[in-house]
Amino acid sequence: MQLKLLWELQELDLAINDIKRKIENAPQLSGVEEAKEYKAEKEREYGELEEKLNNDRKKLKKLELQEQKITGDRQELNDSMYGGKVKNIKELEQMQRRMDSLAEEKKKVEEEILVLMESIEEQEDNLERVERELSEGRQTLVEKENRLEEELNSLNRELSRLQDEREQQSAKIDQQYLDKYQVLAEKCQGKALAKVENDICSGCRVFISSAQRGHLYNPSAMVYCENCGRLLVRLDNH
Ligand SMILES: [Zn+2]
Repeated sequence: MQLKLLWELQELDLAINDIKRKIENAPQLSGVEEAKEYKAEKEREYGELEEKLNNDRKKLKKLELQEQKITGDRQELNDSMYGGKVKNIKELEQMQRRMDSLAEEKKKVEEEILVLMESIEEQEDNLERVERELSEGRQTLVEKENRLEEELNSLNRELSRLQDEREQQSAKIDQQYLDKYQVLAEKCQGKALAKVENDICSGCRVFISSAQRGHLYNPSAMVYCENCGRLLVRLDNH
């Protein structure tokens, strides 16, 4: 009877260890860390794109002002040249050269504006895409964190149920059996007891000697496997 209770205690202990291992591994398996990294990566990417875009928008504004100024200067120059006030040919020629150089400058600025506008449009598309990815990443992280929390709650509930059950179980067992069990469990990776199945120790798969087999029929005897040292249990229903 004591051995059967002890066997059940071992089953509880193995289940408790299994749950503890699951609790320990759950965060890593949940994918929360990866989701955090992904989110951080997207935030970084978004920040960089946004900064570059803002800089380019400022640059564009500056170029547009520059273009306006050139247009204004040309208008002014045009008015002076054709206003009839300037008669000196040399001066007029000089003004014409200035007019030509302003035209060239304007053309250059307009080209720069065009290139920059195209680049800004592309950057805006990119920013929109990264914003979408970031928002998806945030959503995924929240979902994974919630799922992990739920899983941990349920595992902890199961653990405390098993621990209560273990306490009740061990209260039914004599101290000398518990002590023996404790020592053997530490030596045998938690498996202090082994069932006897077809005269074989289920702990190490070695035949049990006929002398020991005889002792197994004495319900109060503690019989150990000569090979692995585990406490042998014969369960009637096996
Ligand atoms: Zn054995």
